[in-house]
Amino acid sequence: MVAPGFIDPHTHYDRDIVPWSQDPEQSLILPAIMQGVTTVFVGVDGSGHPAIAETLSNADKKGIGPNVAAYVGFGAVRSMVLGYSDKAPDAEELISMKKLVGKGMCEGAFGFSTGLFYSPQSYSTKDEVITLAGEAASRGGIYDSHLRDESSYTVGLQGAVQELIDIGHATSMPVHIAHIKALGVDVHGESLDVIGLVEKAQASGLAVTADQYPWIASGTSISAALLPRWAQVGGEAEMLARLQDAEQGREIRKAMAENLRRRGGPDSLLLSNRVKQDLIGKTLQDLSEEWGLDPVEAAVKVLEMGGAGVASFNQSEDDVKRFMKQAWVMTSSDASAGHPRKYASYATKYAKYVKQEKTITTAEFVHSSTGLAADSLGLQDRGYLKEGYFADVVVFSPEDYAPRATFLDPEILSAGVVDVIVNGEFAVREGEPTGLSPGRGLKHTPLVGTCD
Ligand SMILES: [Zn+2]
Repeated sequence: MVAPGFIDPHTHYDRDIVPWSQDPEQSLILPAIMQGVTTVFVGVDGSGHPAIAETLSNADKKGIGPNVAAYVGFGAVRSMVLGYSDKAPDAEELISMKKLVGKGMCEGAFGFSTGLFYSPQSYSTKDEVITLAGEAASRGGIYDSHLRDESSYTVGLQGAVQELIDIGHATSMPVHIAHIKALGVDVHGESLDVIGLVEKAQASGLAVTADQYPWIASGTSISAALLPRWAQVGGEAEMLARLQDAEQGREIRKAMAENLRRRGGPDSLLLSNRVKQDLIGKTLQDLSEEWGLDPVEAAVKVLEMGGAGVASFNQSEDDVKRFMKQAWVMTSSDASAGHPRKYASYATKYAKYVKQEKTITTAEFVHSSTGLAADSLGLQDRGYLKEGYFADVVVFSPEDYAPRATFLDPEILSAGVVDVIVNGEFAVREGEPTGLSPGRGLKHTPLVGTCD
């Protein structure tokens, strides 16, 4: 089967393309390339550094497997100006932040990304986000957001979708929901309501899209999953001190117990990385039994050890499938360590949801992984097999294209990709990586609005 090279709108390969990453294989980004992915977006969830020109030229100089496109991120901008404070910016600070967003856009960012769920971005108001997003809107960018709430933590899933839509209306820019999901038992089934909200906004003329990784488990950290955001103000040392404080410690533990319930209980959190090797692959329930502590105290102990990455099993298959069927939902991986999604999202969507479950057709799988992303995110001359377009192409075997990574062994390359061509050069030939790095740093064009 021959298809346009897949486009991944939400990844965390930022560190693989910096000049100081030593391992030359790292910048080939084989977890993506070996699934047929030829373009990846970085700087998502608000993590994108505004030095976009440097990011793109580093990628070019270093030599990368797939093409790289970048967002300028709210978290990076806010922490540069306000640190990890929960205060609102004053007029001068707001101007500093606006300048950083504008600079990133002028250097080729595709838009403004936020991760309003995460500290310190969670401390912002909608108006602050609108002001900064406007800097991207006036230069033709899109708004990409990890929502303030994918569950029932604060404003609720639907409240957070409405906030994204409000930001789109206020700035007249296309808005995009990162890794769309209904997270946690309180919101299972709300995919229906979310789809309703999106369709209503689309009917009113707003461009709204989303991406999705095809898994019922998300990947996050134990602190992001369980801690209330007020406990994180000021950073990790202050958070640990609050855990020791009698009164605040009690309040934090109460909130953690509620967050654990919301996510599906101690069996639903699997320690996956960023923690001592012998704890990887264990659930919070396992640790609780092993240590003779209740699950919240076991989580506190993990936090005191420096925290951990977790796979959090918190979605329903029905919601995953319902979102996947929408014509405005594209494929993504949210590639990060400790979750098979990095190595196997595209292969899983095909093997499981096209071939096995028949949730979507092959054509829908290909379009949601290519042209839909190119059209929605502003990638020019990519995403289709057309004369005059860049030759980003994947050839895969329909029989063999399948994931091999699992939750207990998440770092295994997927099977079944035969050839991958990026910008006309082979990155994979007859099933083997060529070692070439034909990817480029992609600049958003055409640039509109003012730049120095
Ligand atoms: Zn995210």
